[in-house]
Amino acid sequence: MLEVFQLMQVHTWFFLLVVGLVSLCIGSFLNVVIYRMPKMLHEQWRCECESLLNEQITEQHNTPSLSFNLATPGSHCPACNAKIKPWHNIPLLSWLILRGRCNDCKTPISMRYPLIELGTALSALLVAWHFGASEQTALYLVLTWALIALIFIDIDHMLLPDQITQPLLWLMLIASTFNITIAPTEAIIGAAVGYLSLWSVYWLFKLATGKEGMGYGDFKLLAIFGALLGWQAILTIVLLSSCVGAIIGSIQLAVQGKDKSTPIPFGPYLAIAGWLTLLFGDIIENWYFSLILA
Ligand SMILES: [Zn+2]
Repeated sequence: MLEVFQLMQVHTWFFLLVVGLVSLCIGSFLNVVIYRMPKMLHEQWRCECESLLNEQITEQHNTPSLSFNLATPGSHCPACNAKIKPWHNIPLLSWLILRGRCNDCKTPISMRYPLIELGTALSALLVAWHFGASEQTALYLVLTWALIALIFIDIDHMLLPDQITQPLLWLMLIASTFNITIAPTEAIIGAAVGYLSLWSVYWLFKLATGKEGMGYGDFKLLAIFGALLGWQAILTIVLLSSCVGAIIGSIQLAVQGKDKSTPIPFGPYLAIAGWLTLLFGDIIENWYFSLILA
């Protein structure tokens, strides 16, 4: 194991190869998380509401209890329920070999699955290449993978699950105590500033307009980046997320012709902006200040 780690530190290509292959498999798992976790949470909330209201579960209940978790049952085709054979479950390759169709019923398989696998591998490779073989890279890879799950769950369900955001926040705070990131004091202040800045905006907006522009998941997401990068990075991330939002929003409007009043989750923009700040914070800040001073 130690030899493998030494090999990774000496040979960049070997390190990138390992990160790329592992991330393809992680991407495959993220597809499962993105699809199943919201369904599991909704089912859990429904049960909790029912027990709270003391309602008897009637037999006509049209939503049967879920019979899956993140690990079981194995992958199956949503159209014909055929089990997916292990050799048809290889990230990226299988989709290409099967030409994007189920092997049994030939129902098209969404392009999104291989694209998420590819996106996970490419973003992880960028992190690995940028930071090299180090403890920081391990932390940033975990963050990158988790952000991908958060982005797609938020797009699908307007939800950033606590089950992902809370452990990430604790992870960032703990990392600061091991001298992997910033000093612990800075991390704690960063987390608080990240959370409270959006929390204040949310309440001001709500008191003024009666509408909700964001959710609590967004505050926690910004707290994660605050704990990782310090409070100084918060303004950059928020400004950058509106730029990312404007760019993606106009592309969406042009491509899909979506109406402007459709609620758009804010989480993906924050996640992308925070991730870009992690990688290119210095460049972004220099560029920003050169714009102000020019
Ligand atoms: Zn099928």
